[in-house]
Amino acid sequence: MKKNILVFTALFFCLITFEGMSQNKSKVIAHRGAWKNTGATENSIAALEHAIKLGCYGSEFDVHMSVDSVIFVNHDHTIQGTDIEKATAQELSQIKLGNGESLPTLEAYLKAGSKQKKTRLILEIKTSRISKERSLALTKKCVEMVKALKVEKITDYIAFDFDVCLKVKELAPKAHVEYLNGDKTPTEIQAAKLSGTDYHYSVYKKNENWIDELQSKKLAINVWTVNDKPTMQWFVDKKVDFITTNEPELLLELVK
Ligand code: MG
Repeated sequence: MKKNILVFTALFFCLITFEGMSQNKSKVIAHRGAWKNTGATENSIAALEHAIKLGCYGSEFDVHMSVDSVIFVNHDHTIQGTDIEKATAQELSQIKLGNGESLPTLEAYLKAGSKQKKTRLILEIKTSRISKERSLALTKKCVEMVKALKVEKITDYIAFDFDVCLKVKELAPKAHVEYLNGDKTPTEIQAAKLSGTDYHYSVYKKNENWIDELQSKKLAINVWTVNDKPTMQWFVDKKVDFITTNEPELLLELVK
């Protein structure tokens, strides 16, 4: 009887440990949505919808602001030869993506994301090529739109411009904000009251101690853009919080 109780207790603790371990697994963020294996154009609403369907923790996307202050979703500063920052919203709304969709506005994109709650919207505020003022104006508009569309609870922010990260925190103190550029130490991130880092994988590989430091400071660790299995496994073993990838299907399989 005593033996049975011992075995049962041991099994129980194994189960608890296993449960704990599975909760610690890195979460999958689809980089520019799930486009590579789905045929959707990157940063399209269809790519977001595929990421949601896959059950990704998050779907990342990039934004820029038109000359007349309308926000559009696209990675590059230009699309089909048009410089987004120098074009009007009217001109940009004529542009069709490869999958036939119109170039999405941030408003349309957030509205599509707001139909669900499981997949977070990882909003990357792109740095203006014109001025710091425009980067900060874009930041303010993004935060306002996220609030207006009531998607604060499912939206996180990332940016390469440190001042943009600080501005988001100033405007939305509760927001989860990660810095992208790889040149700030965990201590600097903590001092700035940001939520964590989202650095290129080579930065963490060069500064492995930052992973421990960030974890001991309870700062979030996100990494971009990890597309091969060995690198995914390296970061999963390091128990980073999030991995951003063009191969969400592969990573989902690896962490399941
Ligand atoms: Mg991006």
